[in-house]
Amino acid sequence: MKHAFFLSLFFASVLLFGQTPRIDANRVAKHINYLASDKMKGRGTGSKENAKAAKYIIKQFKKLDLTPLGTDGYRQPFTAKLRRIVVPDSIRPANNVIGFLDNGAPYTIVIGAHYDHLGTGTQGSSRDKAPQGKIHNGADDNASGVAGLLELARYYAQNEVKEPYNFLFIAFGAEELGLVGSRYFVNNPTLPLDKIHFMSNMDMIGRYNADRGVGIGGYGTSDAWPEVFKEVKGSVKFFTDRSGSGGADHAPFYAKKVPVLFFHTGGHDDYHMPTDDPEKIDIPSAVGILDIHIQLIENAMKLPKLGYTEVK
Ligand SMILES: [Zn+2]
Repeated sequence: MKHAFFLSLFFASVLLFGQTPRIDANRVAKHINYLASDKMKGRGTGSKENAKAAKYIIKQFKKLDLTPLGTDGYRQPFTAKLRRIVVPDSIRPANNVIGFLDNGAPYTIVIGAHYDHLGTGTQGSSRDKAPQGKIHNGADDNASGVAGLLELARYYAQNEVKEPYNFLFIAFGAEELGLVGSRYFVNNPTLPLDKIHFMSNMDMIGRYNADRGVGIGGYGTSDAWPEVFKEVKGSVKFFTDRSGSGGADHAPFYAKKVPVLFFHTGGHDDYHMPTDDPEKIDIPSAVGILDIHIQLIENAMKLPKLGYTEVK
């Protein structure tokens, strides 16, 4: 009887919402709270807290049984140079963190998000007037995108479906120093770039504004996107933008003729400020954005490898 009750609740929710939730809001919140906590000191490139963030992501990839596809296990080490502040240690060690979900398919979908941020305000690009010594938590930028990356990885690793595409999950390092990690990856790919179906980047998905909607860039980078976007809808609204370039980690992929998508909830007063804090993140909307992301991936998996189009 009790079972029948819960079963009917279950079916009622399926009827009401169209499906059971595919992304767990509590897990999304947990990742953001951890990565953007004060003890992570803003995850500045070369800091021990940045290395700790990489370790956290590796731990999650391991739990999901993803195959390491860096050059040193899950890590792909490189160096990044501070651009504006010239100090003797302006060359910093950095890492991309790369996990592969092998479905034995010929082509692969790349999902990316950068995990570094501005540290304690000494590496440049803070909007604070006196940034030095202030922790730039980077909850929206980009703990939110990393949380999305980890939970999409969980969804595809644990849904007990063998998709017709493989997935490569990349947490990029040193984005804030000029897309250094994503540029390094496309110039030193650990999987041939011509085997990529498309690349989808999440950078700042935590500050949904209902008037604006979430922006999805890259719409002009393949003639197939209109077909993929057909009938996609959910609890958040979105708009598309044709551009494949710009200041985020999908741009180096687009420059190598890979079709891209880019999820972004837009700028705000806390952008690149010490006040980009976890309590300001709109978790339910981030989950809604991830659901839209899944719908797009599902639709794109019904099509053969997407062709690249140059955006006019
Ligand atoms: Zn940023």
